[in-house]
Amino acid sequence: MTNVFNFSAGPAMLPADVMQQAQQEFINWQGQGCSVMEMSHRSKAFIEVAETATDNLRKLLSVPKDYHILFTHGGGRGQFSAVPLNLTSPNDRADHLVTGSWSKGAVEEASHYLTADVVGQTQIIDGKIGVQSQQQWQLNQQAAYFHYCPNETVEGIEIPWVPETNGVPIVADMSSNILSKKIDVSQYGVIYAGAQKNIGPSGLSVVIVHDSLLDKARTETPSIINYSLLAKHDSMYNTPPTFAWYLAGLVFKWLLNNGGVDAMEHRNADKAALLYDAIDSNDFYSNNVAFEYRSRMNVPFHLATTDLDGLFLKESEGAGLKALKGHRIVGGMRASIYNAMPIEGVQALVDFMHDFAKRNG
Ligand SMILES: *Cc1c(COP(=O)(O)O)cnc(C)c1O
Repeated sequence: MTNVFNFSAGPAMLPADVMQQAQQEFINWQGQGCSVMEMSHRSKAFIEVAETATDNLRKLLSVPKDYHILFTHGGGRGQFSAVPLNLTSPNDRADHLVTGSWSKGAVEEASHYLTADVVGQTQIIDGKIGVQSQQQWQLNQQAAYFHYCPNETVEGIEIPWVPETNGVPIVADMSSNILSKKIDVSQYGVIYAGAQKNIGPSGLSVVIVHDSLLDKARTETPSIINYSLLAKHDSMYNTPPTFAWYLAGLVFKWLLNNGGVDAMEHRNADKAALLYDAIDSNDFYSNNVAFEYRSRMNVPFHLATTDLDGLFLKESEGAGLKALKGHRIVGGMRASIYNAMPIEGVQALVDFMHDFAKRNG
């Protein structure tokens, strides 16, 4: 393996064990004489791969029986239109909490299909970015669903509680924090995630949908993102992204072998604490998210002066710490520390940060 720690926000690093296994069996999968990529999705062997992956995801998140798990196309953003098309009619309205770039993208896309109301947003708490308390939101009791993004990948804002919506189904874009901690799936109507942060390769999208929300799709919904059709056909209405599904299955197995989401939650808490401590304990660094809403997955931070950003990036890259450049709309740095990032990677970053501050502060 290389001595590089990859802090990319997505597509992001995958567990080294998984990459090695995929490499070993790349050309000759399970003695079949061909790659899993070269096999029919209707073959017995691949159906077993798909079913095992689905079962293992169900196990990892304790997904109740009355939810379907779908593997589909179009990544995270594909669901921005799949959700309104599958759950509503054009005259319906949906509530949206907007706390950053991705939830903003979702409300913009949804507004092409229905009346999309922004019912709550961020607010400044003691000079830092937080989220409005629920008492300040203007929920509509008639809303077909309530959409939010529990972890804003760009801004590094994670909402640690689940909204109370008085029975309106909650739709959550968990692209960047799915499987990072325990969740109670029964609190949600739909959970979706683009795979390339915490699950596997890009392009794949995982949807967990309550059975009561199936069979509501508009007639014009493209078949390949129609939840009911996908559910009926075990996500094989058309050819699914088979290699991505297989690789996601390897990641699920890796998670189960490493203590599941319980263990990930502890690991992720430790990793985030280590990094935020390094930021807080040194005047040279800052993070502008209110304490309660700091993301455990995406940690944006700024240096004392933007003049040193270029040098920081050049030297960190040289030290094997990859892809720390912040998103262009936030600036500064961002370290994405998903499940696959070992604590050694965060420790290496923290050591580099202390050293850099000492030399340049
Ligand atoms: C990355 C991301 C997306 C977009 O995923 P694509 O696969 O690029 O469409 C959507 N939502 C969140 C929260 C993300 O982090």
